[in-house]
Formats: sequence, C-alpha cells, structure tokens
Amino acid sequence: MNEAALSKFVRYAKIDTQSKDDAEAYPSTKKQFDLLNLLVKELRELGLADVTIDTYGYVMATIPSNLPKTHPAGGKVPCIGFIAHVDTSPSASGANVNPLVMTYTGGDIILPGDSSVVIRAAENPDLANQIGKTIVTSDGTTLLGADDKAGVAIIMTAAQTLVSTPSILHGDIRIGFTPDEEVGTGTKFFDRKAFGAQFAYTVDGDTVGELNKETFSANQAIITVYGRNIHPGTAKGIMVNSLRAMADIIVRMPREIAPETTEGYEPYIHPHILEGEEARSTLKILLRDFNTPGLDVLKKKLEQIIAEVQPMHPKARIELKIVEQYRNMKDYMGSDLRVLDCLEEATKRTGLAPKWVPIRGGTDGSRLTEKGLPTPNIFTGGHNYHGPTEWLSVEGMEKSVSTLVNLVQVWVDRSAK
Ligand SMILES: [Zn+2]
Repeated sequence: MNEAALSKFVRYAKIDTQSKDDAEAYPSTKKQFDLLNLLVKELRELGLADVTIDTYGYVMATIPSNLPKTHPAGGKVPCIGFIAHVDTSPSASGANVNPLVMTYTGGDIILPGDSSVVIRAAENPDLANQIGKTIVTSDGTTLLGADDKAGVAIIMTAAQTLVSTPSILHGDIRIGFTPDEEVGTGTKFFDRKAFGAQFAYTVDGDTVGELNKETFSANQAIITVYGRNIHPGTAKGIMVNSLRAMADIIVRMPREIAPETTEGYEPYIHPHILEGEEARSTLKILLRDFNTPGLDVLKKKLEQIIAEVQPMHPKARIELKIVEQYRNMKDYMGSDLRVLDCLEEATKRTGLAPKWVPIRGGTDGSRLTEKGLPTPNIFTGGHNYHGPTEWLSVEGMEKSVSTLVNLVQVWVDRSAK
C-alpha cells in the first residue's frame, strides 16, 4: 500500500532541520542530515536508482525512464528534475514540532500551545476553501515546516506513485533534496552536472494552483558608520556616536518603498538587521526589484541618503557596500519555454486553473536558472511560512503530487510530437 503524502509530511515535520545564518560550516547545521539521511534510506526502499548523498548534504536519486524504445517519444524526452529543500527558517523554532492534523470547520484557529497565536480567517483567504477539509498546523510554539517539507513529501509521494505504477510512462527523472535554502545558500555546492537534468522544478510554492516563473532580483546593502568612542564623562567635542548618524540614515529610508507598504511587482528597500555601539554600527538592508537594473536605482537612493546625512556628522565615516544575492529567474529562463508550457498543462490536467504569480522572494530555482538550469516553482498547499501560524492544505499537497505525476506524462506527450 502506498503511504499518503500527509503521513510522510508529519514524519518529516517532526525532525528539526532549522538552518542558521552566517555559519562557517556547510550545511549550516548538522541536524539537517537527520532528514537528509532518512530520505536516502526511504529513496532506496522505494527502489530508486543512483541514490547518493554528498559531503554537503545534497541528496540525489533517479527514476529511470520506462519508455519503450518503440514509443514515439523514446529517447527524446529530456531529463526532468524535482527539487525541494529540507531546512526550515531560522525565524522561528523548528524543534519539537507537533503537527496538528484537523478538519477545518471555519473561523479563526487558536493554536493550543500558545493561545496568543491565532490563524485568522480574515488574513488567510484560502482558508475559506478548506471548510470540511483536512489541514495541518503547528501547536503554535514552533513553525510547521511545510516550507519546504511539504515539497519533500510531495516529491517522495510522486516518486512512490511512479515506481509503483509502471503504466505511467515517463523519461528520466532526477530528484534533489537540498540543505540551507532558507539562509540563501541552498545551491552553493549543488552539482548541476551530477544532477544531470535539463529542466527542473522546485516544489516550494504555496497556494494551490499557483506557479512561479518570476522572482525578485536581490542585492543586500550594508551600511557601516564608523564613529569614535570615549568615556561619556569626558566626551565633549570628542565622541562621534555612530548610532546617531545611523538613526538619521534609517529615518530617511522611503516608507512607501518598504515590504510593509508594497505588493505585486513593486520594489522595496528593507532595513532588517541593525547592530552597533558608539564606535561602529552596521545596518543590513535588503534591496528587491523584479527589474534587475532597478536595483541600481535603489542603491542610488541609499547613496543620496548618505550624501545628505554625511554633512550632519562630519567626523563620522559612512560606508556602503552592495552584495549580489540572486536574480529574477525570468531573465535566464531561456528560449525553450516547454519547461513552463508543460507545467501549465500538467496543472490543468490536475483540474486546476494555473495562475502564474511573481514571488516576492527567491528560490533555489532563482540561482539554478541563472546558472543555466531553468527551474520554475510549483505550489505545495502551504501558507504563512517562517512563523508559528504556518498551515498546510492536505488537498493542496495531494494536487501538487498529481501535478508532478501529470507533468512527467505531459513531457512524454510533447516529446512525441
Ligand atoms: Zn522554501
């Protein structure tokens, strides 16, 4: 008997795989191996070929083509990859996750582990589609980890369906599980050659039916203010307090170009980590725009702010540094648009109306696409990622499994023409 996606998800969600920012090691936390090694074992039990795990933690496996040589698409179907990340966000605890499986009956959901954590119907329009259906939440004290263990469970379930149903014809399929996506380094050591897919899909989206072929282009700006510290008792005319200059910088950041005031395709400048004392303070800022040259416009805004603040603090030294993060996958998707067309068709065959939505963020696919492996993103049915109000639609997860199973067949149909 095949195991349902839900039961796989619950097993994976209970394993703490939280990743860590600015770690020296890769993967950033050793505990991610707890799930990665389990997946190796389960992939082998399913009978997949070439199951490997490397020193970085990347897990890969193959479902070999079962197309007869005489089939019109025989030898013509490109190798397709499915990718999900095992780590969970550092923004909320991932230890002792207690997944609660419930039938949603409408209204707000007060989570039992912390009654101040409420999944509000008004803030979650897709909840209205879940009445009478099964959803999964955390108990409110941790995140759930549907991002992206739902994706892992979906890929494992699709793999199980394909190996146990030989009548479903498909080309070579590669499976990849990655660590450290949430800290921005999910593909840092990913061996694209060893993976060998010509096209890939991350299963790391959210609302059922939503597909993604566009992400932000992203840079990080780091502003450092150098001041001078001395005992406050004898500081007159000597101390240069970097914090005061930094405050003048932050207050000038445009409020109408912020994550909390923008949506859709609108760009933003987002001051997000501030550290400092008198002698030195550092501000990390996220610059985001779907239009890559727009990142320079955002940088110029910061330069203007610094130019304005510098004369107010003539003894402080202010530095601006830009670090490239990732690029809009749309810019690198290439000319072979079958990777998108087949996904759209597969979603329709699942009985859904596919909706292309721009991601106000990045995925492992942003970097893979930039490096030459076109990798759009598929929904999982999860919502409210990175916090304790995260929830998962079980039906959404099942529709995602069907979409993957349909997708490999659409590729066969298209290649036969
Ligand atoms: Zn994710």
